Amino acid sequence: RKINEKHDKVFVTGCLDPKVQQDAPRANAVFVVLARNKELDGVIESLKSVERHFNRWFHYPYVFLNDGDFNSTFKETILNYTSSPVEFGKIPAEHWGYPDWVDTNVAKEAIRKQGDAAIMYGGMESYHHMCRFYSGFFYKHELLQKYDWYWRVEPEIKYFCDITYDPFVHMARANKTYGFTIAVKELKETVPNIFRYASAFKRTHNLTSQGLWEMFVEPKEGFNQDGSPKKDALNPENLPKDDPKYAAEKQKPMPEDILRGQPGAGTLPDIDPEAMDGDVYNMCHYWSNFEIAKLDFFRSQEYEDFFNMMDRSGGFWTERWGDAPIHSLAAGALLAPSDIHYFRDFGYRHTTIQHCPANAPARQLPREPYLERTTLDEKARREEDEYWAIWDTEKENGVGCRCR
Ligand code: GDP
Ligand code: MN
Repeated sequence: RKINEKHDKVFVTGCLDPKVQQDAPRANAVFVVLARNKELDGVIESLKSVERHFNRWFHYPYVFLNDGDFNSTFKETILNYTSSPVEFGKIPAEHWGYPDWVDTNVAKEAIRKQGDAAIMYGGMESYHHMCRFYSGFFYKHELLQKYDWYWRVEPEIKYFCDITYDPFVHMARANKTYGFTIAVKELKETVPNIFRYASAFKRTHNLTSQGLWEMFVEPKEGFNQDGSPKKDALNPENLPKDDPKYAAEKQKPMPEDILRGQPGAGTLPDIDPEAMDGDVYNMCHYWSNFEIAKLDFFRSQEYEDFFNMMDRSGGFWTERWGDAPIHSLAAGALLAPSDIHYFRDFGYRHTTIQHCPANAPARQLPREPYLERTTLDEKARREEDEYWAIWDTEKENGVGCRCR
């Protein structure tokens, strides 16, 4: 299914005069920063960039969250970098760490094994907690209750285009729910069973795809990601095969623990992740360290049900499910393409991955890759380009302000 201008277009082309924007009405929105005291330098880097390229004109407030206590150095320093209102919050114990229904010995052992297997962050207990917090709890924090929208900021991020319009106001006007700026493929070994569970949620809740789910499904042989047949697909050789492996798997009833949403760590069935419902996760997800979204999406009963079912599978411990694929698959199950906004005009970088709309060398290519991932080899890069080119718009050129 093609995602194009009909579903989503750039909010504003070119630079606006920030002075004019200064007097425009604001949304009920907030920056959310989860961090630890030791990340102060990285947080300052992010704040400088956010303020310089956006918030010095818009003055949105910040909420800083931490599972521990922010020390006075952290709090005092932060106040030097913004004139906006700032609040610091501690995450309550019930939103961070093991819930009481988890057998912590089983969970800890699973995490240790993931460390041994050198799975990225797999052996790091706190990272599992962080992913679960961002999947099912951040929006429940008391300091966020008064807000309708949030923009997530992490330590060590950088914006390099001026953002001269209010993305919240435009999200609201365009009736958008979730905004991203980079989409990448997840490391398979961190989420071997995630899609099986997400699919089960979709099935057991009788959710029919509104067109977004397909974005996360590996295209069948002979077909493109957008569902159109490949050029030579008329050759019977290229028609989708009803693989007996898939068919057999489809006949099997869903495991009891999935259907009941029971009972915690260690219950993930040992299955072939390729053999589920005929559908395979293509590993794509919105890179959630940047997110502008409507809090009501996460606060909805549907999202709560989704999170609870995913959570009860134990996958936050037995695997290393990130909040990015969780948010993405929830969107896939519950939202339509028109609910999603691609901030293709935002220049953004975090660690090794960046998106720069104006300066991308690949602008010369007929199919422009939206992300320049330094760590990808050529083949992976081509695959991603092909996938994300379907987010393309007709009049992409001239979008946004220059990168600097
Ligand atoms: P990466 O971007 O996936 O490499 O992961 P990060 O280390 O940047 O973590 C993601 C976000 O969670 C960042 O905002 C971190 O500051 C935050 N974070 C990660 N672990 C912890 C933790 O144990 N405590 C707190 N308070 N924040 C954490
Ligand atoms: Mn990070």
